[in-house]
Amino acid sequence: MIKFLDLQAVNARFEPALREAMQRVLSSGWYVLASECEAFEAEFARFCGADQCVSVANGLDALVLTLRAMGIGPGDEVLVPSNTFIATWLAVTQVGATPVPVEPVEATYNMDPACLGAAVTARTRAIIPVHLYGQPAELDPILAFARERGLRVIEDAAQAHGARYHGQTIGARADAACWSFYPGKNLGALGDGGAVTTNDAALAGRLRTLRNYGSSTKYHHDEIGSNSRLDELQAAILRVKLAALPGDNARRAAIARAYDAGLADLPLVLPTVPPHIDPVWHLYVVRHPRRDMLARRLAEAGVMTVIHYPVAPHLQPAYATLGIARGTLPLAERLQDEVLSLPIGPTQSDAETAAVVRIVRDCVGAL
Ligand SMILES: *Cc1c(COP(=O)(O)O)cnc(C)c1O
Repeated sequence: MIKFLDLQAVNARFEPALREAMQRVLSSGWYVLASECEAFEAEFARFCGADQCVSVANGLDALVLTLRAMGIGPGDEVLVPSNTFIATWLAVTQVGATPVPVEPVEATYNMDPACLGAAVTARTRAIIPVHLYGQPAELDPILAFARERGLRVIEDAAQAHGARYHGQTIGARADAACWSFYPGKNLGALGDGGAVTTNDAALAGRLRTLRNYGSSTKYHHDEIGSNSRLDELQAAILRVKLAALPGDNARRAAIARAYDAGLADLPLVLPTVPPHIDPVWHLYVVRHPRRDMLARRLAEAGVMTVIHYPVAPHLQPAYATLGIARGTLPLAERLQDEVLSLPIGPTQSDAETAAVVRIVRDCVGAL
């Protein structure tokens, strides 16, 4: 049985260092917003090439607090991908603004800059490109479009820790980049975690206030904030795992290359990567018109797969109130029926990767 992602094995590699980090926090007597959090913020900012990192409780909060810090709320519209994890949309609705979907480029699954013009209105305030599956979105044309119209750009980087765009690590190119450290992400904690990186010191300052009860001085509250902080335990754990992230990403890339080579001649759509982009292979997503049958055959043969994502946000019952009819976003609707994520992770062995290739070849051939 080949697991989709063996999280137990992923974290077992760091047991002595993780125990030491947890013991350090236990002994310190400081459990929220103290030295581990500060150190992680500095280390992650440096990793991203950003001036500032503000840690928060999770990836959704990173997006929500960034929108709030930018003053985006009721009456505003925010352009979001039509094919993303629902958190991108939830952040927009949580601040009272309206998500306006933009279809992707079919080859990369990322927001199509050519579709922005048709989606923008006088109420548009921001764009949230998602670096889906670990592959950076086309940031430069999106940023150029936004700059011309005075819109903010927030990168949803929850799947792309360490990915590069034109040779530059993402996290400092747009107005802000929002991160998740959910356990299954490329940089994962042993619980929830999130962060915002930015070069905008004023924005970072507002985020620090908003995450901590709207307070910059204890028991003095400048605005209605929330409680969204990264605890010391998760910060200490993330410092251990950040040091291993480049190696883990390289391992994922090697698996992706093996899949590329081993599956190239099959009637299966493989990922496409433009030459100026270095993805971190959070997911390796293939497409087939008979996806459900393929997934079932793979499972019977011992290869676990996952669908990212089976229902586009506009077709979720949660968003029925937006009234976006089926058929309005044909690409997102087709992708939800065709995409399939193959096993990938930093502890997946060459033998397991070879077995996935062999079994996918057998199953696709027999469909
Ligand atoms: C995981 C994820 C989020 C949300 O992160 P959480 O830490 O789970 O709140 C947001 N956007 C995308 C694209 C994600 O994959």
